[in-house]
Amino acid sequence: MRKPFVAGNWKMNKTVEQARVLVAELLPGMQAAANVEVVVCPPFTALTALANMLTGTPIGLGAQNLHWEASGAYTGEVAPAMVKEFCQYVIIGHSERRTYFGETDMTVNKKVKAALAVGLVPIVCVGETLAENKADQTAAVVTRQVTEGLIGLTLEQAAQVVVAYEPVWAIGTGLAATGPGANAVVADFIRAPMTALFGAAVAQGTRVLYGGSVTGANAAEFFGQPDIDGALVGGASMKPEFIKIIEAAGK
Ligand code: PEP
Repeated sequence: MRKPFVAGNWKMNKTVEQARVLVAELLPGMQAAANVEVVVCPPFTALTALANMLTGTPIGLGAQNLHWEASGAYTGEVAPAMVKEFCQYVIIGHSERRTYFGETDMTVNKKVKAALAVGLVPIVCVGETLAENKADQTAAVVTRQVTEGLIGLTLEQAAQVVVAYEPVWAIGTGLAATGPGANAVVADFIRAPMTALFGAAVAQGTRVLYGGSVTGANAAEFFGQPDIDGALVGGASMKPEFIKIIEAAGK
């Protein structure tokens, strides 16, 4: 019922030329992934080039951020309509943006609404830090991030959203969560608050990804979980291994 979804977050990596080379390496492997929605999210500077290269291919394009205002005096920011010129998706509220750039549940909520208003699919990231995990705050933190990040959406808008559960302690560390552990968080602290906000049909129809040190070797463990529909992949999305992850999602 929920189409598998695999997104690559390239973070602050790849010049335009390097981005072209990487996509050229990925495209031949895409035949095996007909039933998977695949997205790459390069830096803003590579979006134009990749938009041209990806037109007519099965790979979608996403940005890693946007601003919620439509235009104006916001030096260094990129407006939703500008992202929409090139992209179908946008990552919102990644933990690196929350940690290094002061993003909050309130700014995430504004960005989600702004993205949806121009027809972008938001990939909304939530997840607890190591300290929060050790203090048994995972339930409270993830439930709050989901609720405050998505509050105020219409049912139609909520049905467009993709959510990524990314425990901060697992991002870029090589220490992935376990499949059952991640599934429990998704079921109890992502789908449950979404049910409270939007009802069971929307909550059960929403694609929820796992992210945090996903590799070709461990991807199947996550994709075999009943509440996990794919992955948001950082490091491994910039390697040929990304194809293995996509293939695992399609099985
Ligand atoms: C990410 O950046 O969202 C991520 C999950 O990174 P990694 O796969 O490298 O842990």
